[in-house]
Amino acid sequence: MPIYEYAPDAGACAQCSGRFERLERLSDAPLTRCPACGQPCHRVPSAPSLGTGGAQRLKESHLGRHGFTQYRKVGKGQYEKTVGKGPDTLEA
Ligand SMILES: [Zn+2]
Repeated sequence: MPIYEYAPDAGACAQCSGRFERLERLSDAPLTRCPACGQPCHRVPSAPSLGTGGAQRLKESHLGRHGFTQYRKVGKGQYEKTVGKGPDTLEA
């Protein structure tokens, strides 16, 4: 679930020190009032943080440079090397 950042409309809040974060489901409606003090607040427009699950896939060239060998499946039990220093084909 993404975490959204909120700020009070007035720009300051005694109870949440001006800003707070809230974990929301995508289906949740945005908060309009601060849950701590009840004053009007708004969601700060920023890219939601999706945590560690969104790690980018390593590119093949990146893998090769770091000594990994990657294979792709080319047939039943047969694998062909796409990058790296290992044998060109593998049979499983
Ligand atoms: Zn507040």
